[in-house]
Amino acid sequence: MIRVSNSQLGQFDRCHFAWHLGYEQGWAAKEVAQPLALGSFVHELLAIYYRNKDNVDPDEFINLASENYLMEAGSNLQKLEIVQRGLTIVKRYIPYAKQQDKHWNVIDVEKRFEIPLVTPMGVEYVLEGIIDLLYATGNGNLWLVDHKTVGHGKFWSDIEILMEPQMPTYAAGLRELGMPIFGITYNMLNTYEYKNKIPLPDQVFKRLNTHKTDQELANHLINMGNTVDEMVAVSSGNVRKRSMKRECSYCQFQDPCLAAVKGIDPLPLLEANFKNKKELQLEAVSSQQIAEVTDKKSLDFADLF
Ligand code: SF4
Repeated sequence: MIRVSNSQLGQFDRCHFAWHLGYEQGWAAKEVAQPLALGSFVHELLAIYYRNKDNVDPDEFINLASENYLMEAGSNLQKLEIVQRGLTIVKRYIPYAKQQDKHWNVIDVEKRFEIPLVTPMGVEYVLEGIIDLLYATGNGNLWLVDHKTVGHGKFWSDIEILMEPQMPTYAAGLRELGMPIFGITYNMLNTYEYKNKIPLPDQVFKRLNTHKTDQELANHLINMGNTVDEMVAVSSGNVRKRSMKRECSYCQFQDPCLAAVKGIDPLPLLEANFKNKKELQLEAVSSQQIAEVTDKKSLDFADLF
């Protein structure tokens, strides 16, 4: 059965050929870019913090996390920088969060989900993803939280948040499971270092709440289903359109794509510069190896001891 994630849907919308290389064939960058690695590490720390926030002293949490992750990074300078920056960001975040989250009853953190759905054309598919955090307010309303790490001066605006597709995709899917999501909290953390001053909270944190009506979520689900129907048609038609836009300069597949445009087999370039997640997963014989392949860890505060 076809499985889709929000990032896959977005990639398909942007360029069918890039989607073909990344998702149908399974090619992925060998190295995670530093901003993405920092974002993942901050998410990891936030997950541990929110799983344990009622039982642990914030200073103890930061001390244990520092000890554990710095030791793990060893002498790898790139990892050390990510660990130090991530710890600084989360350390300055916790006092802010303690003030802002008083009404949050945390239900789940880093929750992986798979939701069976059907497209308008009757194709069965599975929507998969990971929810950063799910909380309920005192009146029982459910809220999704999306942690976003951003650069200096790059907070999302109200309009950008309203046009953001990932959380409505999750909310639309969960609604089909009978889990009505009342609202979405976008929790933004500025990752800039501020080496020479202590920043004000509104320079480094921003939260925006949105609400999607039932009608909006129903429409979103239809759009998502239409995209999946189009994916199936593109796959079976065996023609993947290239977007060929100025933004192609930012595409990780630009070199193999240009080779293919010139009629040159892109496979040697792909094999030299990318890893193939599908092949790696086939080779992985245990769930532990698969976790390493997909860069996912199971997280708990106990892991820090
Ligand atoms: S370089 Fe452009 S056309 Fe080629 S795969 Fe990337 S986005 Fe698509």
